This record gives sequence, C-alpha cells and structure tokens, in this order.
Amino acid sequence: MVEVQEVASVPAKTNLLGLSQSKMEAFFESIGEKRFRAQQVLKWIHQLGVVDFDEMTNISKDLRNKLKDVAEIRFPEVMKQLDSVDGTRKFLIKVEGGSAVETVFIPDGERGTLCVSSQIGCSLDCSFCATGKQGFNRDLTAAEIIAQVWIAAKSFGQLGVNGPRKVTNVVLMGMGEPLLNFDNVVDAMSLMMHDNCYGISKRRVTLSTSGVVPALDRLGEYTDACLAISLHAPNDALRNELVPINKKYPIAMLLDSAKRYIEQLPDTHRKITIEYTLIDHVNDRPEHAHELAELLRDVPVKINLIPFNPFSQSDYKRVSNNALRRFQTILIESGYVTTVRTTRGDDIDAACGQLAGSVNDLTRRAERYRRQMAQQEEAVRIVGN
Ligand code: SF4
Repeated sequence: MVEVQEVASVPAKTNLLGLSQSKMEAFFESIGEKRFRAQQVLKWIHQLGVVDFDEMTNISKDLRNKLKDVAEIRFPEVMKQLDSVDGTRKFLIKVEGGSAVETVFIPDGERGTLCVSSQIGCSLDCSFCATGKQGFNRDLTAAEIIAQVWIAAKSFGQLGVNGPRKVTNVVLMGMGEPLLNFDNVVDAMSLMMHDNCYGISKRRVTLSTSGVVPALDRLGEYTDACLAISLHAPNDALRNELVPINKKYPIAMLLDSAKRYIEQLPDTHRKITIEYTLIDHVNDRPEHAHELAELLRDVPVKINLIPFNPFSQSDYKRVSNNALRRFQTILIESGYVTTVRTTRGDDIDAACGQLAGSVNDLTRRAERYRRQMAQQEEAVRIVGN
C-alpha cells in the first residue's frame, strides 16, 4: 500500500495591490492590526510607488516582517513599452494565464489620458472592434486594472514626492466591457480617485459602456465617476448589427438608465459622453446625424465622433473627411457639443479600436474569424484565377 504523505499547504499571500480602502482595512483587521494601517500602505503603494515593505518607514519593523509573511504586492509583467512619435505610449502587459492586455497613454497639452483595459478580450463582439475579434479569456482582477495606472504613472516618474502629473485622466475604454467586471472595476476606480492614491478627480475618471443596463442601474451606488456610452448608431436596427448587446438592452432602455445615473450625481452639470464611431457608408450619412440629434434631444450629452480605424479582420472602411465634417456640422447646428477624436499613436497600433493584446481565447471566436477570413481570401483567389 502506498503511503500518502500529507503536505502542509502554504496559505497564499494576499496581494495588496488591488485592495480598495475598505478591503485594505478589513485585511489589516484580519491580521490583528489597526485599520489606519490601510491608509499608510495605500499611500506607499499608489502615491509614492513603493512596493518593498522594508521601505515603508512609518511602519514598525515587526509589522513589516509580518506583512512579508502574509502579503505581497504583485504586478503583472510589462512585456513591451512602445513610444509613438506623437508622445502616445502603449504598454503590452502580460497577465497570469499567459494572455496580454494593452494600456495606452495619450498626451494632449497639459492633459494625459490613460486608456485602461478591464477584461482579457471581450465577450460582446461589436462588429467594428479589434478586441471583440480576439474572443474572451477572463476578467482582469482589481490588481491587474490598477496596475495599469501604476505602471504608466511610474514610467513617467509621477509616483513619489513632487512627481510630474502626467496621467491626469483615466478612461475605462481599453479592452473589455467594464460593467461585466463590475466589482473589480469599481474597486480599481476607487483607488484611482482616492486622495491617498492617484487623487484623480471624479470628473476625470470615465467608465465607458456598450450598455449592460442592469449593471449601469447599480453603478451609482458605488461611484460618481463620469459615464460614456458607446452608442455608434441612432436606431436599434443599425445598433443591433454594430453592438449586438443592443438586442438585449435596446437604445431607449440604455439612455434611460444612463440618464438616471447622471441625474443622481450630486453635481448637476455633468454630461454623458456619447461615443459614435463613424464607419464609411454604414452609419455616417446625414440622415443618421439628424436621427441621432433627435434621439438625444432630452439627454444631457456631449458627442465624441471617432473615425473608424481599419484593421485586418474587418471589411469596414474609415469615414471620408467630407462625411465626417458633414456629420459633425449637423450635430453642432442641432445644439450639441461635438468633438472629433483625433487618431493618435498610429505608428504603434494604439489608435482607438485597435487594441488587440494577446488573448488566450476561450470562446474560439478568434479561430472562427480566422477561418472565415481564410475562406473569403480563398474564394477571392479562385474567382481571380
Ligand atoms: S467595443 Fe467594447 S464592448 Fe464592444 S467588443 Fe469592443 S471592447 Fe467589447
């Protein structure tokens, strides 16, 4: 008979990186320490960029040793940092399980916006989105989300005493649908806005959703960050094609929910950002602009037009400059603040909608798309012969 030896399992260390203030306080209580330690450690990690317990000098040596036994500050690995000629910086970040996500920093005068990913890939498969074509692997943890902010800020020397404020804004518009990863996103956003962490104003942190209405209905209980809606179409028929989740939560339901979110915020002048990716001969006609103006009549919005950025797995084309100008003019004349997102970081594939990372796809969607593309190319080759 084989004797089975019991192996004492070593309890996993708690990763402190993604803990919100309340979770950090609960952690310190759980190890028999005072709750105020949470503030100190949050400040060390997120404001001063210190991740070695031995350097946390306002904490006693005994507690530092205790922390080393039970906790860690563990980061995903930066595989690549790419710098564009226009100042855009992209990070390719490898997460546990072997996939990689992308984070992009876009400078604009005094402002620096960090576009953060919330999931590895995305399950929603919007037809114009490179991330959607990659399939889906899993949600990012709160630690993996806030690590993107830490990594970018650290790369600019922002963390520490009197570091330059380079990352002034954060948008959750990278890979993934943030509201499908609710708890982790909310925890990470609380760290972005916390005075002892990054101290970014609630007016400068924006969550962008394609329309997960039940989660949007709960959002106001947890945060007062800004809201963007990935709309991309002025009616349900067209939006069903571009943003399939619309079949479940149609436009009227989504806009009602967004209005409720914005109206319950204590500051009254905030607007919802409407994102509208303009695709040549799909949603860029004057009648679409008029329909959009009518649709948004009673919603407090500003509109951001995004020229579609072509990528290999899509047949869509970039909107023409004429159509773009015409579309914008109609909206402005209808009384909407309407901006056009300029393409940045083209030379490092960091433009909007191009974030693809490297997803170990559990949905096999990426494989299906590759097969479809190969079949189409084969058909074109046969016709051409
Ligand atoms: S646009 Fe957003 S929600 Fe749609 S597939 Fe891309 S990442 Fe997902």
